[in-house]
Amino acid sequence: MSIILSKKGLAIEPSVTLEISAKAKALKQQGVDIISFSVGEPDFNTPENIRDEGIRAIRDGLTKYTPTSGILELKEAICNKLKKDNYLDYHPNNIIISNGGKHSIYNALMAILNPDDEVIIGVPYWVSYPDLVNIAGGIPVYVQTKEENDFKFNVNELEKAKTNKTKAIILNSPSNPTGSIYTEDELREIAKWAVENNIIVISDELYEKLIYDGYKHISIASFNDEIKRLTIVINGMSKAYSMTGWRIGYTAASEEIIKIMGNIQSHTTSNPSSIAQYASVVGLEGDQTSVEEMRIEFNKRRIYITELINSIKKLSCKTPKGAFYIMVNFSDLKGKVIHGIEIKTSLDFANLLLEKANVAVVPGIAFGDDNYIRLSYATSMENIKEGIKRIKDCIENN
Ligand SMILES: *Cc1c(COP(=O)(O)O)cnc(C)c1O
Repeated sequence: MSIILSKKGLAIEPSVTLEISAKAKALKQQGVDIISFSVGEPDFNTPENIRDEGIRAIRDGLTKYTPTSGILELKEAICNKLKKDNYLDYHPNNIIISNGGKHSIYNALMAILNPDDEVIIGVPYWVSYPDLVNIAGGIPVYVQTKEENDFKFNVNELEKAKTNKTKAIILNSPSNPTGSIYTEDELREIAKWAVENNIIVISDELYEKLIYDGYKHISIASFNDEIKRLTIVINGMSKAYSMTGWRIGYTAASEEIIKIMGNIQSHTTSNPSSIAQYASVVGLEGDQTSVEEMRIEFNKRRIYITELINSIKKLSCKTPKGAFYIMVNFSDLKGKVIHGIEIKTSLDFANLLLEKANVAVVPGIAFGDDNYIRLSYATSMENIKEGIKRIKDCIENN
């Protein structure tokens, strides 16, 4: 007899990126030299002072359960950081530390959503947002953004997507995958709209330290108390400190929301790693020069990769303003046959690049937009040079 499995579980989409990454892995194992632009994490080591503190925590036996929502030292370090960088006044009771930024978003959605509540998400979106909303019992509602608007939604578009079921929007600035950044004026308008409509803003600020061309990161919660009450600030150690494997994310929000998130966390994962928490205190409070060094390196690569891509006929991209990704528009190639492969979708194009150019990229459909592929420039200048050359040869010489 067959077993009937969870409808909720079965409804979760497997990641579209899995197919490509499995293929890339298989090719690598066969000895094919693949250049990957598909990584979603910084390629730098975690700064040494942070690693040392992790080792110290283990030596000193700081290896037991901590309070579910995290150690007070780290909450205080987070409050100081939010005050200094973001002009946000929070008390440790407004903070919960979770197992990475993704887990923070998950707990936040679990804390606010009732069945069929709607959450507005801009397209192209970060891969996990729709499924996180689905798992929490909500319904993702999509707003298609335009490249000419820098892939950003505005209040008019939000207003069109709004229904009496709209509970929240997800704001991701700087954005993965587009690298766009909302300006202060744009954020003020969104804040005003959210307050007028009593809609929660989940503000994913994981990439706040990776911003270029003199742009500034502004936290939407910083404008006034009304929007602060409605904002759930999500941040974490993964991207700014190259700590993806340590699994530390955090949330700042009203005590009411933080308390529910803590109760959920207490029955699911308990506290995030004690060792990673102690190391994160040093990350936030210690010398920040390595953060800036990584940003400077990313900036060089960003300029280089943008130029190289725009030198390829039939591909185009805008210069991203933040994070370490670039969206490449390949719509001029749609319907064409290249090296025997017909390009109908972003998956076709990604497959072509993998098989014929030995370059791994993420198809835009993973972010809800089939006219693009996403390249990550969290890789060396040499790889960027060689990888983009391969893409150019593949498209132009066929
Ligand atoms: C990487 C990332 C996160 C969080 O990642 P964790 O590894 O879970 O800390 C959250 N949002 C976006 C947009 C990201 O790219």
